[in-house]
Amino acid sequence: MMISVVIPAYNEAGNIKVISQKIADQLEKVYSYEIIFVDDGSTDSTLREIKEVAKNNASVKYISFSRNFGHQRALKAGLDHAGGDCVISMDADLQHPPGLITGLIKKWKEGYDVVYTVRRDIQDIGFFKKITSKIFYKLINKISDVDIPLGSADFRLLDKKVVNELRKFREDGLFIRGLVSWLGYNQTGIEYDIQSRHSGSSKYTLGMMTSFAVQGITSFSIVPLRISVMVGFFISFCSFLYTTYALVTKFYFKTALPGWTSILISVLFLGGIQLIFLGLIGEYLGKMFIQTKNRPNYVIKEKSL
Ligand code: UDP
Ligand code: MG
Repeated sequence: MMISVVIPAYNEAGNIKVISQKIADQLEKVYSYEIIFVDDGSTDSTLREIKEVAKNNASVKYISFSRNFGHQRALKAGLDHAGGDCVISMDADLQHPPGLITGLIKKWKEGYDVVYTVRRDIQDIGFFKKITSKIFYKLINKISDVDIPLGSADFRLLDKKVVNELRKFREDGLFIRGLVSWLGYNQTGIEYDIQSRHSGSSKYTLGMMTSFAVQGITSFSIVPLRISVMVGFFISFCSFLYTTYALVTKFYFKTALPGWTSILISVLFLGGIQLIFLGLIGEYLGKMFIQTKNRPNYVIKEKSL
């Protein structure tokens, strides 16, 4: 039985040795295993560190991108190359405790094809991240046909057959936790306490988190487009009422005054609504534009497997 562990790493030089060692401690004596580091175009000595570790441990392999392609694509590359009977994915920064690996494997052996992890709601992630993450998952679960566990991350175990299915996805704007949920199979979750980063700093800025959230929602739901139709109908209905009122005052009561205020307000309001939904349509159109080009998800500069 062979276990693959996939670890995307972007400027994680200080973490490579420690995480390799901790994973080896978990797996070495019990299974044959491989650790696949995906160097996502790091600008520090991450790749050098990985090669160093690989020299002393034949189970450590790597893929190195030609530039930074982002976490999701790095993860996809790892899944595309993993050879294990199951594949565990986790972050390089030790926020995902390697000690949980045994627990993941145990559930897999019980017959689950997907074992995801849910972080217990505690310390160490900021209040802001906690609350926005909660809102995001509630929203996406409501308006799409996927059901993503609250507070889930890309720390999970996938059976080989699930990985094989994931490899078929060639879509741009990858949102892997959505795809895993979409695929179905026998899924179960285990809880863990998130740890603090071992070294380095978070690569997910507020801007990146926002665009990741938009990516997730627009990849899995067209409800936002439908909202525009609903709002459109509602506004048209209000306009109809208002027009009736205006006509009645003019022709029946003959009391109509030239009212620029109401005109100004309605023009501004309608203009705003139109711009919002034009932007929204642009978002989806942009997605199609990128997808029709059918570019590869990533470009590999060098690899050891
Ligand atoms: N990561 C990556 N490419 C990127 C950004 C992040 O491969 O462009 C990796 C990073 O090295 C880490 C994981 O994705 O292993 C999660 O990133 P991070 O810990 O910075 O995110 P956070 O835990 O703060 O949400
Ligand atoms: Mg992290």
